[in-house]
Amino acid sequence: RLIARACGAEAALVVNNCAAAVLLVLAALASGRGVAVSRGELVEIGGGFRIPDVMAQSGARLIEVGTTNRTRLADFSAAIASPAADVALTLNVHRSNYRIEGFTESTSVADLSGLDVPVVADIGSGLLDAACPWLADGPPSWLRGEPAARQTLEAGAALVTFSGDKLLGGPQAGIIAGRADMVAACAEHPLARALRPGSLVLHALQDLALAYLARDGDAIPFWRMASIPVDVLRTRALGIRADLVEDTVSVPGGGTLPGVEIPSVGLSMPGDRVGELRAGNPPVIARVADGSTILDLRTVHPNDDAVVAAAVAALAG
Ligand SMILES: *Cc1c(COP(=O)(O)O)cnc(C)c1O
Repeated sequence: RLIARACGAEAALVVNNCAAAVLLVLAALASGRGVAVSRGELVEIGGGFRIPDVMAQSGARLIEVGTTNRTRLADFSAAIASPAADVALTLNVHRSNYRIEGFTESTSVADLSGLDVPVVADIGSGLLDAACPWLADGPPSWLRGEPAARQTLEAGAALVTFSGDKLLGGPQAGIIAGRADMVAACAEHPLARALRPGSLVLHALQDLALAYLARDGDAIPFWRMASIPVDVLRTRALGIRADLVEDTVSVPGGGTLPGVEIPSVGLSMPGDRVGELRAGNPPVIARVADGSTILDLRTVHPNDDAVVAAAVAALAG
């Protein structure tokens, strides 16, 4: 109920991950029937989550419409008009980890919602609300174009599915949110029992939802780190080791937001020093880019600056 409220849905259901959310929605609402998906959205997310395979597992039939680069509303309405296709749902899948550029055309959730069957939108990353009311300064510029649960439901999606551990900033989980009757059908399906998370996940999600409802982005580590101003990071970096300060970028979403970069500041050292840093006590996790080892201060809690300073000082040379 808390998550439903935070994204403006009638109801919501929590499962183990977004792959499970998509599987359950398809099994509960379209088994034995057709689900129309654009050929440009037959995605593979990392870890073997492929829309055609999930569809097959659910017992729903994939009805491919349009082409790789261009899909029109007429492609969907033709599929829906076909008795043989027996379309129960249209499925809109966010191209989380790739882009299609050039001579392209695609249909929006708003367009699809005008058709005769419900639209399910797999938005993936789980931005709850494009207005980011939990951030004092509103949405950061790097978020541009990322679909949000509240706005996707407002645009006419009957259901949205998203991950708990990408932009939502919570534990690994999958959320199904939207129309109460459709969420109830998912909850009553036998697979729901197999896909439900444990109480630790529900507890963590409850804290997260309460933080969103209290508009307290600082209580959500992901948003706290993602919204620290670059100047604040620079001041901290100068305080740790002025000679190593370098501008860098943070990449949010664990590969699920291609091209999205948050300007940041870190410490940079020549060569690959990640093994030495990791072997320290406590271990410090850095990354290597262009032959340099980078410690991005956006991902370091300010209380740990002294730890980073000591780890860098302890490196030979
Ligand atoms: C990440 C993602 C998934 C899978 O989510 P998990 O929670 O990792 O299972 C499904 N669909 C989209 C669009 C995604 O971005």
